[in-house]
Amino acid sequence: MDTILVTGGAGFIGSNFVRYWLCGPSTAREKRAVDTSRTNRRLINLDKLTYAGNLDSLGELLEDPRHVFVQGDIADGPLVLELLQEHRPQAIINFAAESHVDRSIDGPAEFVQTNVVGTFRLLEAAREYWSGLPASERERFRFIHISTDEVYGSLGPEGKFHEWTPYAPNSPYAASKAAGDHFARAYWKTYGLPVIITHASNNYGPYQFPEKLLPLMILNCLEGKPLPVYGDGQNVRDWLHVEDHCRAIELVLTRGQPGETYNIGGDCERRNIEVVEAICDIVDRLCPELPHRPCRSLITFVADRPGHDRRYALDSTKMHQLGWYPQIDFAKGLEDTVRWYIANRQWVERVTSGKYRRERLGLGKSVVTS
Ligand code: NAD
Repeated sequence: MDTILVTGGAGFIGSNFVRYWLCGPSTAREKRAVDTSRTNRRLINLDKLTYAGNLDSLGELLEDPRHVFVQGDIADGPLVLELLQEHRPQAIINFAAESHVDRSIDGPAEFVQTNVVGTFRLLEAAREYWSGLPASERERFRFIHISTDEVYGSLGPEGKFHEWTPYAPNSPYAASKAAGDHFARAYWKTYGLPVIITHASNNYGPYQFPEKLLPLMILNCLEGKPLPVYGDGQNVRDWLHVEDHCRAIELVLTRGQPGETYNIGGDCERRNIEVVEAICDIVDRLCPELPHRPCRSLITFVADRPGHDRRYALDSTKMHQLGWYPQIDFAKGLEDTVRWYIANRQWVERVTSGKYRRERLGLGKSVVTS
C-alpha cells in the first residue's frame, strides 16, 4: 500500500493511526529508528475538524511531505471523489464519526448525518472511483470501515460478542454506527466493493478528547475536581490500547478478507469504578505534591446514563488467527497515558479552548458537575 485515504485522522484513533502508519510503533519512534518500509508511504487525511478533531494532535506530521491534510466532510461526495481521483489511493480507512455516546443522547441528528449519511456518501464516492480502476487495482483495493463493539448491545455477566452476534444497538451513537455498518456490508454484497468492517472495544491512550472516561478522570484528578462515576460504577468495558488497535488495523488492511468483519478486543475487562480507582492511585503516586490527595476522595457517583450498556467483551479469535494479540499491558498502558496527560497539559488547553468545559453531557440537557 503506497497511498491510503484516512478519514477522521485528526481525532483520537485517527491521529494515532496516522502517526503509526507513517512513523511506526512508539517503541521504534522513541529509538528514532527509521523504518525504511514506511518511507514511500503517503497518506491523505480528510477531516472536518469538528470539536473532536484537532490539528494539534498531528503536530510534526503536518510538516511531513508524506502526509496531506484536507479539511472537509465525508458527506461531501464531490470532494471525496476529487481526492480519490487526484491521489489514487489503494485503500480508504474510515475513522470519521461522531463518537461520544452522551452527545448522541443530547443531539442524535449529527450522528445520523456523519455516521449514516456521511458513510453512505463516502461509500458512493469509493464505489465510483473503484469501478473505474483497472481489474488488478480493483482487486487490491480495500475499504476499511471502523466500527465499534457497541453495535452488539449489552452483555450479561457471562459470554462475549462474536462477529456473528446479532446487532442490538442501544444508544443513538451505536444505532448510527450500526446503520453505517449495514451500508458498508451492503456495498460488498451488492457491488463487490472490497469492504472490511472492524469492531473495536474501548480504546485508551494519548490524544483522546477529554470528554471520554479516562482523560476526564485523569484531568479532574490533577485539578482536584469531582470524578463523576455513572450509576453504581459496575459497568464493564474491555480496554484496548490505541496502539494495539492501530497494529490490528494495519494487519486487517494487508491480510484481512474482503466481506469479513473482525472483532478487535483488548481482552481486558474492567469495571468502570476499578479504572477510576486505578487512575486515582497512579496520580497520587506520580503527583505527591497535590493537596487534594488521595484522589479517591474525589469520586462522586452521579445519575446513570440513560440506556447505559452493562458490559462489553469481545471474542477476537479471528484477529488471533491473523496473528494479532494485544501487546500493551493495561497497568503499564494506563500509567503511560496518565504520564502523557501530565506532560501535555498545553494540548489539553488547546483542544478544550472551544465550547466544551468537561460538563456533564448525556442527560438530554447540560448539567455542570464541576
Ligand atoms: P473522535 O471523536 O476522537 O474523532 C473523530 C474524528 O472524525 C474527528 O477528528 C472529527 O473531526 C472527524 N469527523 C467527524 N465528523 C466528520 C465528517 N463528517 N467528515 C470528516 N471528518 C469528520 O473519535 P475516535 O474515538 O477517534 O473514533 C474513531 C472511530 O473509531 C469512530 O468511527 C468510532 O466509532 C470508532 N471507535 C472508537 C472507539 C473508542 O473507544 N474511541 C472504539 C471503537 C470504535
